[in-house]
Parts: sequence; C-alpha cells; structure tokens
Amino acid sequence: MCGIVGLFAPGRDAARLAYFGLYALQHRGQESAGIAAGDGGTLRSHKEMGLLGAIFNEEILAQLSGHIAVGHTRYSTTGSSIVVNAQPLLERSDIGEFALAHNGNLTNTDELRSLLPVGTVMQASSDTEVLAKLVVESSGTMIERIETAMQKARGAYSIVLCSENELFAFRDPWGVRPLCLGTFDDGGYVVASESCALATVGARYLRDVEAGEVVHVTRDGITSYHVHVKDEFPALCMFEYIYFARPDSKFDNRSIYVARHEMGRRLAREHPVDADCVMAVPDSAVPGGIGYATESGLPYVEGLIKNRYIGRTFISPDQSMRSRGVHLKFNPVVENLRGQRVVVVDDSIVRGTTTPRIVALLREAGAREVHLRITSPPILHPCYLGVDMASYDELIAANYTVEEIRAKTGADSLGYLSLDGLIASTGRKRDEMCLGCLTGVYPTEPAEHERAPHALTRSS
Ligand code: SF4
Repeated sequence: MCGIVGLFAPGRDAARLAYFGLYALQHRGQESAGIAAGDGGTLRSHKEMGLLGAIFNEEILAQLSGHIAVGHTRYSTTGSSIVVNAQPLLERSDIGEFALAHNGNLTNTDELRSLLPVGTVMQASSDTEVLAKLVVESSGTMIERIETAMQKARGAYSIVLCSENELFAFRDPWGVRPLCLGTFDDGGYVVASESCALATVGARYLRDVEAGEVVHVTRDGITSYHVHVKDEFPALCMFEYIYFARPDSKFDNRSIYVARHEMGRRLAREHPVDADCVMAVPDSAVPGGIGYATESGLPYVEGLIKNRYIGRTFISPDQSMRSRGVHLKFNPVVENLRGQRVVVVDDSIVRGTTTPRIVALLREAGAREVHLRITSPPILHPCYLGVDMASYDELIAANYTVEEIRAKTGADSLGYLSLDGLIASTGRKRDEMCLGCLTGVYPTEPAEHERAPHALTRSS
C-alpha cells in the first residue's frame, strides 16, 4: 500500500501540485513521503520519514522547481521502514538521471536481483530498488528499458518515473494496483493512485491507466504503449474496493462509494437482524453502513466519534501501536447506544485485534446487543501483492470458524457478505479481480520461498 502521483504540467509548479495530490493519498501510506521534480535541466528531490505535512514546507517546495514531478507516500510491505527506502528513488543511468515511485509488491525480487551485474551497489532493501536497477542496467531508450523491466518483473506494480524532461507511468500486466490519468483543461497531465488526487489538484479524470500500459508524456503530448506477458489477465485488487481506496475515488469510472453502498445493501439482505439502529466503523465502512440501513429500514446513527488526528490502526505496521490505537481513536456517543440493539457494519476483519475492543466499547456505552456485519467475506489467505497481510498466522479467519470469531469478538451475532455479493457490488466481472486473500487463487504466483509465512512481514 502506497500512494503515487506524477505530473507533467508546463507553466505550473509541479512539486506543489504533487504535494497536494499526495495529501489526498495520505490514507495509502503514512511512514514516509517524498517528491522529485524536474525543470527541463535538473532533477531535484526531497524525502523523509513521517507524514507529508510534517516533511514539506514552503522552503523545501521552493527548491523543487519545475513542471515535472513524481511523488510517493509509503506504507512498507517489503524493505524496512527507514528513510533509505523512502521514495522516490533517484537513479543514474547512461541515458541520464531518473526518479521512480512504486506502489505494489514484486513476487520475484530475488530472481530479478540475480539478473543484475555482479557488484551492483544497492542502497535500499526494497523490491523497488531492484526494479529501478533493472531499468538502469537495461539498454535502449527509457521506454525500451521500462518494457524490458516489465517483461521480467512479476507481481504488482503501479509506477511513476520522471527524468528532468519526461514523465512515464506504467502498471503491471495484471493491473493489481490502481493508477489513473487526468488532465488540466489548459494543458498538462497527472497520474495518480486514485482519482480523488486528480480532483484535489484541479485536474479532470480521463481514464485508468490500463493493465500493462506505459504512458509517456513529453512536450509533444502523450503516447501509450502496451506490454504483454505470459499468463496475464485483469486482476485489480478487491481490497481496494473493500477498504483502501477513498470512497470519492473511482476505478474505470465506477464509484467506490456506490460499490460500498451496494455491499451494505446486499449484506442486509444476506444477514438481516432484529435491531434498533445501524452504525459503521471505521470510516471506510460508512457507505456500507448507510447501505445496510437503507435496505433494512433501520436508522443510521453515529455510535463512535473518531479522533481524526490519530492515524489508521491498520496502516500502522507496529503491533504494539495497533493494540493501543483503538482507545485513542474512538469515543462512544452514549445517547445513541444506551439500551439499543446495534448493528455495527465494518468492512473487514483482518487480524481481529480491533473488533473485540470496539464491541466492548459499545457495551460499556450501554448497547444492549451488538451485531457485527462485515462487507467482505472472511480473509482466509495472505497477500503477496503489496498489502500488509503476510502470514496465515495473523489472519483470524484462517484459524477460526465464523462462530469462534463471533465468540472472540464478544458480539451477539456475526455475518459476512458472500463472495458473490461482494463481486456483484463492484459491477466488475469475477475474472477481472484479484481475490487472492479471499480464495487463495492469485493472478501471479509468488516464488515458493516468498510464500513462507513471515517472508513478507516487512518489505516496500
Ligand atoms: S490478495 Fe487480496 S489484498 Fe492482495 S492484491 Fe489480491 S485482493 Fe488485494
């Protein structure tokens, strides 16, 4: 999980726009952030650990002058959470310097590393650097080098890359991680992980970058190339629909809000319950909660108020921080809960550490009954493609039955949305999605050693 943005915007301050674009993508990663900018002659960059707002100020942005920029906000899934792994990565090749920012996770990093010349100096420990070195060590134009790297890399990657005078954006042949393209009405282009970032910088959504597509932007305009590999098929991450993406974003012109609202409606039909009200937690579950309330005819209420200045617990990768998080994050609205039979709509149960605390908090506030309704099926398998769900051990649904999970959470009842209900809610076809963590079938299989239970607990 990371957020990326790239701009080619003649006459504009691209780094400043990248900054605001990344602000719209901060939910995708909060460990580090960076921006690289080109002015036609020089490439400059700045990156640090922490939140975007704490890293950049007027003085730093003023040094990143130019009409081209790429930016990144990071949530690590491979490579340690240290500044050397922060992005964009700056690389020097025989055809010039470039900056690269990556969202996703490669599944054949060791194989790719073995293709690099002996003695290749690596600064970082992430899969992103291996991919960047592959571009450096290939031959030909930048487009040819990118195509070579795409032919060799397996796994998930949406990437923005810029030199001092060109912008490239490319997406793996399965299209696992999102990437969309927008334009300014007076000229120039933006690419971003989610369309909410386009709106933030005043750009108009054009379309999603296609799976296996390379977009090249120069002063002469925009050119598109397609790279095909063996076994490719469209496989957008279902979890983007369930949890990650902002509800005001869209994929392939389909609204995330509408999909989540429909998940809630279908959940109400699949798992009705005698209750007094419906609430949702966390924020990403609100459209599903409203959908459940609409379908069931129950009132939608605010049951827990979130302290918005505490980060998302799922995003924070440290376990001790996760367990402390919930008490810092929520405060109950007792007047809406006392004596009530409450339906709580959540979007997923991953580790199952937060849910019992939520249920306990609601009971302490006087809820008479708590009925959990989840707008996704049980998460039974790890993710090898860039989401921090790396081992069977940590997935509660991989180790316990639905009834056992209900008992562990302390809820009166528990119901998950069916896989068919989930797929139908997105408006996409089943064979257009990655459903790996739900079904165990992945678009691109990881190398055997990368399947080890803890192999991916900390990487890019
Ligand atoms: S395995 Fe799950 S989380 Fe990972 S890419 Fe596939 S759908 Fe997304």
